[in-house]
Amino acid sequence: MLKPAIIWKGSPNFSSRKGYKFLAIVDHIMAGTLSGTDSWFANPASKVSSHFGVGKNGEIHQYVDLKNPAWANGGINKPAWPLLIPGVNPNYYTVSIEHEGDSGDVMPEAQYQATLALHRWLIGTLGIPVTRDNIIGHYRLDSVNKSRCPGTGFPWDRLFKDLEGGNEVLKMAVLLYTKEDYWAGVDVAVKNGNCAVFVRPADQTVPAEAMSANQLIVIGGPTTKHPNEVLLSGNNKYQTAAAVAKYLG
Ligand SMILES: [Zn+2]
Repeated sequence: MLKPAIIWKGSPNFSSRKGYKFLAIVDHIMAGTLSGTDSWFANPASKVSSHFGVGKNGEIHQYVDLKNPAWANGGINKPAWPLLIPGVNPNYYTVSIEHEGDSGDVMPEAQYQATLALHRWLIGTLGIPVTRDNIIGHYRLDSVNKSRCPGTGFPWDRLFKDLEGGNEVLKMAVLLYTKEDYWAGVDVAVKNGNCAVFVRPADQTVPAEAMSANQLIVIGGPTTKHPNEVLLSGNNKYQTAAAVAKYLG
């Protein structure tokens, strides 16, 4: 899960977390520009904020630290969301992403790629499941006043297709450090529904596609620092073989 480039802007408008786990990402439309949103969220009088804002040019701004709830969702009004916790403001258990533009705008490709990368990173780091109830639009919380947030231009189908896998994100991948472990890698891949197998190239970089997989199984090498890594490695090839054998059960 590669962290996309994020520019910290900051906002004084947030609460402190009460220990709720993140259940969902809520997508919004700014009904305005990124720079206008920067100044609106920086103004204590506005009493609003979100965690992130994504510009039409692909720039990602952050206003509130993930350890704090942003003031993004306002009131609940005829909600249509099964994960709603009665009596608790959804700001306490959701991550909010604002998008530059107006309701109904077609999202430019740069903005789409940026929000896709941001969603992927948040899903990976916060453990948010990829479902239509865990990644929602603001209108699900307020179907009366926010029915156009994020609006008809928001690319839900494309986003879910990309987040669920398609050709772009692997649910699972195996990474080998040496060709010697190839057959062990094949066995591990077969156990995981014939997932993709990568061999680390000579320059020792981890292939981006492996790094962006939802889970990465590393055989015979040091950690990649992938947030959802299974490390099957020992100090020598015998220990590695033993770790793989144990994993395969
Ligand atoms: Zn909204």
